[in-house]
Amino acid sequence: MARVAYLDHNATTPVRPEVARVMADALAVIGNPSSVHAYGRTARRWIEEARERAARLVGALPEQVVFTSGGTEANNLAIRGCGRERILVSAVEHDSVLGAVDGAERIPVDGDGVVDLDALERMLGGDGSGTLVCMMLANNETGAIQPLRNVVERAHGVGALVHCDAVQAAGKIAVDVTALGVDLLSLSAHKMGGPQGVGALVVGDGVPLTAFLRGGGQERRRRSGTENLPGITGFGRAAESAFHGFEAWSEIEELRDWLEREVRGTVPEARIFGERAPRLPTTTCLSMPGVPGETQVMALDLAGVAVSAGSACSSGKVAESHVLSAMGAGSDAGCAIRVSLGWTTRAEDVDRFLEAWVGLRDRLRARKRAAATAA
Ligand code: PLP
Repeated sequence: MARVAYLDHNATTPVRPEVARVMADALAVIGNPSSVHAYGRTARRWIEEARERAARLVGALPEQVVFTSGGTEANNLAIRGCGRERILVSAVEHDSVLGAVDGAERIPVDGDGVVDLDALERMLGGDGSGTLVCMMLANNETGAIQPLRNVVERAHGVGALVHCDAVQAAGKIAVDVTALGVDLLSLSAHKMGGPQGVGALVVGDGVPLTAFLRGGGQERRRRSGTENLPGITGFGRAAESAFHGFEAWSEIEELRDWLEREVRGTVPEARIFGERAPRLPTTTCLSMPGVPGETQVMALDLAGVAVSAGSACSSGKVAESHVLSAMGAGSDAGCAIRVSLGWTTRAEDVDRFLEAWVGLRDRLRARKRAAATAA
């Protein structure tokens, strides 16, 4: 079977081989990390080593890392557990931030998906002591990177806390909790070559956090439940690989830039969302005007190319992208696809995409012409 051009790494990136190997070893570890006997202590060592690795990736201390079942839980824990009543969220946040509580107020973004700092300042007002600001580092659909330092400066200036969803950014660009100055930061393993179903919330010193999973008091009473030892081990190994692998992204960025150049040259009517903003090296979000995103995704699938439409992160849902709508994309929002590259991507994958996508445009054009001639 021909190689499928897998270009949906922002949904899930393949597990790295070194991660799969260490997870297989972890499955053979006997014992509960909370047990005091030798087996338990060994299991505990595996967890703590993974914690150190995850912490190092984002410049945190190991004791600041709370392991969770993924990015969604980390976001919910941060927002619901931090004790702030007023929640301000950028309009382009992931659904797991937008839906964590009712009544969150949306901070507008510009046409490239970058937050409007003046609007944030107005919304914060003079007293932010009851407020949490949620600002993602990089967007899952467009890759646009937010000016976190500026956000933190404004929020902390009035006493607000800042939560940062770094699920898409971590491992692809340098992320340092201290340099960013954020109070809470979410991570997910399956976006960096680790397994699905495991992530972490990094909690700054002195930031209060009330657990919503209660029971045995694991994770320093911040998240009860026996730790997912194989998953956490895999997460730690993926974080380690990511920590040592930043230089590889420049080649991926060249492939992404080449893809965009070809698109501009051959499909001039296409729109590339967020192209003027600083972006992740991996992501491009494109529209083919007049052709629904789902039609493009299905045609590409038949041609052996895997991409997604809108923010298709959850099971097969196809809803118009709130991200692109917030950016003022209008009817183009329904005609967008996300092409996301990753550590397995090669030039032939991009070639395959271009051939299939431009081919689709040509076929649709020819069909339209034939219909017009027949009429
Ligand atoms: N935040 C962002 C920006 C994401 O892209 C995703 C998943 O796509 C999540 C959070 C949710 O992470 P998880 O799939 O680990 O629950």
